[in-house]
Amino acid sequence: MAAEKRVAIVGAGVAGLTSIKSCLEEGLEPFCFERHDKLGGVWYYTNELRQGQGSAVYDSVVTNTSKEFMSFSDFPFPKEYPPFIGHRLVLRHIRNYAEHFDLEKHIRFNTNVLDVQRNNDGKYWKLQIKDKDDQFSTEEFDYVMICTSTLNMANTPKYPGLDNFVGTKLHANEYREASIFKRKKIIVVGGSATGGEIAAELARNGAEVYLSMRHGTWIVPRISPDGRPLDSVVFTRHLLRWPTRQTASLESLCKGRMNDHQTYGLQAKERYPAWKRLMICDDMHDRLAQGQIKPMVDIKEFLKNDVIFKDGTTLENVDGVIFATGYGFNVPIIDDSWLYDESGKAEVYKYVFPLRLDHPERLALISICTPFGSHWPVAELQARLASQVFTGNIVLPEKAIMKMDIDQKIKFEKNKQYQVPGPPLGEEIAEMIGVRPSFWRLLLSDPKLAMAYEYGPMVPYWYRLQGRGAWPGARDRILNAEENTRFILKGYPSCEEEIN
Ligand SMILES: Cc1cc2nc3c(=O)[nH]c(=O)nc-3n(C[C@H](O)[C@H](O)[C@H](O)COP(=O)(O)OP(=O)(O)OC[C@H]3O[C@@H](n4cnc5c(N)ncnc54)[C@H](O)[C@@H]3O)c2cc1C
Repeated sequence: MAAEKRVAIVGAGVAGLTSIKSCLEEGLEPFCFERHDKLGGVWYYTNELRQGQGSAVYDSVVTNTSKEFMSFSDFPFPKEYPPFIGHRLVLRHIRNYAEHFDLEKHIRFNTNVLDVQRNNDGKYWKLQIKDKDDQFSTEEFDYVMICTSTLNMANTPKYPGLDNFVGTKLHANEYREASIFKRKKIIVVGGSATGGEIAAELARNGAEVYLSMRHGTWIVPRISPDGRPLDSVVFTRHLLRWPTRQTASLESLCKGRMNDHQTYGLQAKERYPAWKRLMICDDMHDRLAQGQIKPMVDIKEFLKNDVIFKDGTTLENVDGVIFATGYGFNVPIIDDSWLYDESGKAEVYKYVFPLRLDHPERLALISICTPFGSHWPVAELQARLASQVFTGNIVLPEKAIMKMDIDQKIKFEKNKQYQVPGPPLGEEIAEMIGVRPSFWRLLLSDPKLAMAYEYGPMVPYWYRLQGRGAWPGARDRILNAEENTRFILKGYPSCEEEIN
């Protein structure tokens, strides 16, 4: 019998690309299907939402995780890039990654996967596919990696009267730029980074902006007072071991710029876990202080032209509302019963392997969780894990053991959005793959590196230092991560070619 090698990969965003690469490294045959005409997923910017697209970036978006944290583990962003990067350069880097590792030839563009079915013994997979000529076909594979992102269903809360409100109604994924809102009265709903950034951009561009939040938020800057990116400061292994210190460190970063969140109407109710309510937005303080953004509580109801808030305030003649209210967890191309238990909670080991399948080791969900910290390193580690599970190099534990692990983690429910702590999940997966370094071994062999391991930023290169897939550039990049982050404004690259 021919070796089982055929892997269907659905989606050619970052998760799909790193899945192709991981499969190739393990001697598997990847077949990637992408429903749009280019790779890059969310970072492939178009002026309008593409058909079927979920999350999208707006024109001025800049990453909120720093480039060293967001890097591919063996293909870093060039050091000439700024610490936080606009979407054009992000896409350029993704394309360079695909080109460098020759990944694109494995992708079939304009090809939509409609459905994934098991064959009779539950081991193999049939994908129903609609190709670029609208032809339907069914193809069979030994393994499947679903890299469609779960940020694919825009979530808009249901407010009384919203249907009758005559102003503009947009989800943040439809927002592109601020000029059309000049001199308009706009409510932005949501206390996340996206809500903050859109509100601030509207305010800078002459709109009258109201920011409605259900829970309040903590505003964090991208850069700490000593010039290091926020993630480099709070994501160290030392602080991970001391969650209260980590929270305190984060809180002091929030307060360093604006001690008094309450007066500005922002104070989040929760202190612990502080991660729950965070708005990474450097401009918010100034816009609030200059009265260009007014914080509001949750909306009670919409009238034809007006909006009533839960504290009784009414805003009259509102021109529009932008919902930065996130996305719902949703994997539409597989059967719900593969994911959810009787109470509707998803049972997915390491957020990769659906436990409810007879053979969870044959289907992997890559990057379906939304990690605090960057998505990319988690997606990459998940892809490395899955491809090695497919080849049998790594054997999944007994179902009972996987279930115990799942029970200790946040379980997703359909159509809700959750965040999971990214760096600890990365460490767990790296341990399974055998690429998590040991502090004590490092201390004996390379004390400088050992100190960086404990106190330095948890950048993805740590998982290329040793073991399968080791990359010779890893040590250097780890030790220079901070310097590379600061290496800015020297030959800052033009991104004209990416402007479409
Ligand atoms: C405004 C904004 C800012 C962000 N900033 C950051 C940041 O600073 N740092 C960070 O780490 N992350 C950030 N993200 C998160 C971003 O989603 C991740 O960085 C990452 O790129 C997700 O990659 P992915 O491959 O999982 O999903 P996507 O990029 O969404 O790719 C999924 C791909 O699957 C394809 N697809 C879906 N369904 C099908 C189907 N049925 N058949 C065929 N193809 C299909 C889609 O067309 C798409 O190309 C941001 C997201 C947004 C919206």
